[in-house]
Amino acid sequence: MSASPLIQGYEVVIGFETHAQLSTRSKIFSRAATAFGAEPNTQACAVDLALPGTLPVMNKGAVERAIQFGLAIGAHVAPRSIFARKNYFYPDLPKGYQISQFEIPVVQGGAVEFWLGDEKKTVRLVRAHLEEDAGKSLHDDFIGQSGIDLNRAGTPLLEIVTEPDMRSSAEAVAYAKELHKIVTWIGICDGNMQEGSFRCDANVSVRKPGQPLGIRREIKNLNSFKFMQQAIDYEIRWQIEQIEDGHAIQQATVLFNPDTGETRAMRTKEDAADYRYFPDPDLPPLLIPSEWVDRVKAQMPELPRAMAARFVADYGLPEYDATTLTQSRAMGAYFEAAARASGQAKLVSNWVMGELSRRLNVSETRIDASPVSAAQLAQLVARIADGTVSNNAAKQVFDALWTGDGNEVDAVIEAKGLKQISDTGELERLIDEVLANNADNVAQYKAGKEKAFNALVGQAMKATKGKGNPAQVNALLKQKLG
Ligand code: ADP
Ligand code: MG
Repeated sequence: MSASPLIQGYEVVIGFETHAQLSTRSKIFSRAATAFGAEPNTQACAVDLALPGTLPVMNKGAVERAIQFGLAIGAHVAPRSIFARKNYFYPDLPKGYQISQFEIPVVQGGAVEFWLGDEKKTVRLVRAHLEEDAGKSLHDDFIGQSGIDLNRAGTPLLEIVTEPDMRSSAEAVAYAKELHKIVTWIGICDGNMQEGSFRCDANVSVRKPGQPLGIRREIKNLNSFKFMQQAIDYEIRWQIEQIEDGHAIQQATVLFNPDTGETRAMRTKEDAADYRYFPDPDLPPLLIPSEWVDRVKAQMPELPRAMAARFVADYGLPEYDATTLTQSRAMGAYFEAAARASGQAKLVSNWVMGELSRRLNVSETRIDASPVSAAQLAQLVARIADGTVSNNAAKQVFDALWTGDGNEVDAVIEAKGLKQISDTGELERLIDEVLANNADNVAQYKAGKEKAFNALVGQAMKATKGKGNPAQVNALLKQKLG
């Protein structure tokens, strides 16, 4: 492990708490829907509001997703865990408490591994526990008043807590991206950050190397990777400045304002004791027999790192390609389908990471909705490999497939006249012409000027209207020039 990067002689320490919204259709303790964007207060039932006489009932799907997460990160799935009431007063929390897990969480330990540049990092997880979300205050809908929307109350969350293992904003963002990849890959969370399905709280402190941990401030609800980096960087600078000016850091919860790029204290941080946690008397202990864990394990998809390792082993891809292609499960599947169909793994990899990714990015399209299917790319790549089209011509074919100006590779090549000229007789005829018309270059080349040869190649390719097989053109020219 390399030493932590220092900023003005300070070491940065970061720990994350992430709320991943679990992708169940109904809430964690009631049958109300979790769908995003409904009319305010149309998806909160009596249980979500804890009206007298109602009782929470555990949603099995939420537990199952917690088990999946535990298995994905190599954690211990507790056979028995406990729900607790976290008591606090806030207008969007009509019950006066949030049902969460405190002393015994369902997922314990585990780790997230990822690359930061060419360095492998491991962030240890403390725990991941199940809890319900609160409602939302709406400050923009009324003048001089705030509204309360309780649709989100009772939405299932997995709160994922790390050890304070990260040492830079870049490492923190890389961790968050990897965690996001894991939860979306195994399908327990849709990962939509704008809608709040994946929200990170960054705990940040600084210290002189070798000193005990500094006092931390917690930046709440970071819901974009860009803001995450900006917020943490600002916070680090602010804390160092305070300390250098002789002020002690006070533990606090802060909010990041993307408009000013600054963090601002929201409240002084409360301690666990302030919440008066106690076991929820309405919910029995959550029991997870080992057979359940085994069943979930048997159904787990191949995980990103296992898939990447397999791409290296089975297709001979470089490590870099394999990691890039396993950014999402859909991309991995796309690559593999095209690689299998064409038998040209490295060429497919180049096209997926290059032209395809570029087009997907520009048009903000997900790979599973790509206008060019894996089968089409496989066909195209096969035509490059067998010499039918040049790389440049293949780009034109790709473009036609993308825009719907054709959907069968061979037909597009035919219709657009993109076939490479590999017919030696035809090429020789064109090259003879070029040599006759460019006596200067020929003379210069014979006098030892290597550059003149490139000019002749250029002329020859031009004569073939770009359809000459470049390797063949080169060889024929060399041969004829003796
Ligand atoms: P709380 O009960 O206030 O949420 P925790 O002990 O659960 O506090 O820690 C919350 C998060 O803060 C964890 O991710 C932890 O790694 C991180 N953390 C704890 N101490 C520090 C520190 N001094 N600097 C940075 N992060 C810290
Ligand atoms: Mg905490």
